[in-house]
Amino acid sequence: MLLKDLKKIFHNELDAIYGENEVRSLFFILIESYFGISRLELALQPELAITTNEHPKIMEALSQLKSQYPIQYILKETEFYGFPFKVTANTLIPRPETEELVTWVYDSVKAFATKTEHPKLVDIGTGSGCIAISLAKLLPKAQVSAIDVSKAALQVAKQNAKRNNVKINFIEASVLEPQPEVFSEGLDIIVSNPPYVRELEKQEMKPNVLDNEPHLALFVENDNALQFYTAIIDFSKLHLKENGLLFFEINESLGQEMIALLKENDFTDIELRKDMFGKDRMIKGVKS
Ligand code: GLN
Repeated sequence: MLLKDLKKIFHNELDAIYGENEVRSLFFILIESYFGISRLELALQPELAITTNEHPKIMEALSQLKSQYPIQYILKETEFYGFPFKVTANTLIPRPETEELVTWVYDSVKAFATKTEHPKLVDIGTGSGCIAISLAKLLPKAQVSAIDVSKAALQVAKQNAKRNNVKINFIEASVLEPQPEVFSEGLDIIVSNPPYVRELEKQEMKPNVLDNEPHLALFVENDNALQFYTAIIDFSKLHLKENGLLFFEINESLGQEMIALLKENDFTDIELRKDMFGKDRMIKGVKS
């Protein structure tokens, strides 16, 4: 089949769902990734064709896109902070807001590094490992650990660390359960993007997220929305050094509750920040 005819099929089937421009880029991304044919090559050789062997693969991707299955899961691949990451249905697809959290941690640690040459940092609920691995790339002197309760997610995170050439100490554990004394020397930085979407907010979510991304990484009970934050603060009481930094990605509707929670627990220099969409999305505190 000629690729230009395949492209017509993509537009016929998908334009109503994604819009013409988005379908054009989805098509080019797939052709490049599956067949190694670039957009330029395709423009220069309008008669390029795929073989009957290749046909089922691309038609399968078309039908997945029709049911709004995310392109990142179709390709098992995405980018975060410019680094390549494998993603599977056991890991969230990294969000651009989370890149902003990484930038904030990076800037703060650079200022902080005058005090500690090899800051110890842990990422709690690491998923694909995107936060921990990006920070390890950006801060080569840091000693980075990453915790997750999901064995399947940790397997993906380990592959991502290897692929990005960084050494991370991965730990399979739930922060909701009492922690073994794994950080006896004390931590300088804790960062976490835990589950924070309340069940009552489910109906506001896009179907592609709700139907495909791991609920374990997304949802909390309505009346226990800060459960992970409370547990991580308890963890920080044991493991974060005095003047150590705590960073959270948060539910946009719970900024004030998060400020109160950090205050109650004697954190100082509390700062709430908005993401690129203008929503309260991240918070920082210093352990007193
Ligand atoms: N920001 C993500 C979303 O909107 C949720 C991430 C999380 O729960 N930690 O889907």
